Amino acid sequence: MDKAKRKAIIAGNWKMNKTPKEATALLNEITPLVKDADCEVIACVPYVDLAAAIEATAGTNVKIGAENCHWAASGAFTGEISTGMLKEIGVEYVVLGHSERRQYFGETDETVNKRTKAALAAGLKPIVCVGELLWERECDITEEVIARQIKLDLWDVSEEELKNVVIAYEPVWAIGTGKTATADQAEEVCAFIRAQLAKLYNQDAADAVTIQYGGSMNDGNADELLSKTNVDGGLIGGASLVAEKFAAIVKAASK
Ligand code: PEP
Repeated sequence: MDKAKRKAIIAGNWKMNKTPKEATALLNEITPLVKDADCEVIACVPYVDLAAAIEATAGTNVKIGAENCHWAASGAFTGEISTGMLKEIGVEYVVLGHSERRQYFGETDETVNKRTKAALAAGLKPIVCVGELLWERECDITEEVIARQIKLDLWDVSEEELKNVVIAYEPVWAIGTGKTATADQAEEVCAFIRAQLAKLYNQDAADAVTIQYGGSMNDGNADELLSKTNVDGGLIGGASLVAEKFAAIVKAASK
């Protein structure tokens, strides 16, 4: 499939930054800068910012996402947030399996899979993050790691549901470190992810999936990364907190 036919998506991952008031202020800066974007623009924000973010982006082309969700509909899961809670306030996307959740909060492929299925069942669009550690890349097992994550994280996700899944390839060694994968490294793994999807589903289904790169993407390197055939967008951490930088990445994806 022609890359131009896939939906390009630039999503900010704000992590644990910005209070609701600060979120409104930042979105008020971002929305006019990205209003003519020829790609999907998303801001994934902390739970307490969601309501303010949805209000600040009403009537604009910026969509709002959460940074996680639980798989149960309700119950004794102190500190967790359900898909129904997110849906009811108008959230459309949810980041799942981010490496910071895997690294610091014990997220496993099994729980990423449960969350992914719950999100899809609720009508949310999951942005499923996969990526290898530096040690795994050095040991030359990047493809093994990615293949395993893709298979497990998408276990029991139907071809129909896959249409609502976004994959983010985020090499863990490139997140928040200022070290970006080269455009060729990003392309190589994004193409590998697509090949895995083709094996698990079929080529047409794989060709339709938006695969983002994430890991220190910024206004200086976005053009080159996004020019690659299998890099359909970006999941942006640090640079998504600066309106002009985020808007420049959106512009690069709109070309
Ligand atoms: C991220 O949080 O998903 C990310 C890619 O962060 P950064 O852009 O800061 O590396």
